[in-house]
Amino acid sequence: MGATWWGPKHTQLKTLLETLDIPVFPQRLGQKAIYEPISTSPFQLVTLPEEDQPSFRIRGGTSTLIRALASTLPESEIHLGTRAAGISETEDGLRVGCPTGDYHARLIVSTLPPYLLKSTVHITPPLPPNLSELMEQTHTWMGESIKFGLVYDRPFWREAHTSGTVFSNVGPVTELYDHSNFEDNHYALKGFMSSSFHSLSETERRTRILRQLRAYFGDVVDSYLAYREKAWAGDSFTYAPYRKPVFPHQNNGNTQYQKVWMNGKLLIAGSETAPAYPGYMEGAVQSAKWVAEFIIRGNTALWEQ
Ligand SMILES: Cc1cc2nc3c(=O)[nH]c(=O)nc-3n(C[C@H](O)[C@H](O)[C@H](O)COP(=O)(O)OP(=O)(O)OC[C@H]3O[C@@H](n4cnc5c(N)ncnc54)[C@H](O)[C@@H]3O)c2cc1C
Repeated sequence: MGATWWGPKHTQLKTLLETLDIPVFPQRLGQKAIYEPISTSPFQLVTLPEEDQPSFRIRGGTSTLIRALASTLPESEIHLGTRAAGISETEDGLRVGCPTGDYHARLIVSTLPPYLLKSTVHITPPLPPNLSELMEQTHTWMGESIKFGLVYDRPFWREAHTSGTVFSNVGPVTELYDHSNFEDNHYALKGFMSSSFHSLSETERRTRILRQLRAYFGDVVDSYLAYREKAWAGDSFTYAPYRKPVFPHQNNGNTQYQKVWMNGKLLIAGSETAPAYPGYMEGAVQSAKWVAEFIIRGNTALWEQ
């Protein structure tokens, strides 16, 4: 229900996937898409232009990448279910306060989205006011999204005169794609619902989604085998409500995130801090390379190359 697509321009992610020998496959779009420009006109079936930059998915789902990375570390090095509640400076390093116990380190690399770090982790002594203000105003890409999936026993959307690719300006479903697996023996549609529906219940959201899809495909949409959804605004490890309005990608990749804080002991990393493709998986990989460069060679100049 999170990150799914990447493209050839995401070169560092592509290299990482190749290095880890993770197979990928192109997103199936079909030749046509259902397009709904305005509520007063019926939807249309439009011909999609030839793709010059196709999107790819990771075989087995994006978590394949996480599992592959994790498998290169001893299990004892990964502490799941361990929430960092505070970071404080000590004489020789930093202390991370967690409900399960404290950790001590010479260097901490945070990969929380900067806004989440600012609003959920108590840092002492406080970070400089200009950095705090910047973090307050740094958007977490897709943090407010609502994503859903519907599983079916057959891909009825691939029949003539229809399509599993939908773009709607009317909503509540704004985008929809064929999300069948690589082997093409499990069939699903996956899409986004307008984030303004986050306060509804799951049942209410599903009812509205099915109503819209029924208009495109008919009653067959009700024969789904499973419905899954995630309203990301409810995930406190990704999203916290903004105190001031923040627009998409605001302050992503700001140059302040290329510095080291707390007397050289804290790096604020993660996708939203990367100058190139911030917010995307590519940004996360680029940021990780910057962190590695700093740890191995002690310089922060990687971004300038
Ligand atoms: C719905 C959705 C769809 C997306 N689609 C795409 C896509 O198609 N393509 C794409 O490239 N990108 C997509 N993205 C963006 C992609 O998910 C991010 O770029 C990527 O996950 C960023 O990686 P990261 O390691 O920087 O941060 P994250 O993946 O956010 O990792 C941060 C980690 O910190 C943990 N954490 C949070 N708070 C604490 C705490 N207090 N203590 C300890 N741990 C904590 C979190 O649980 C999380 O595991 C999507 C995001 C969403 C939400």
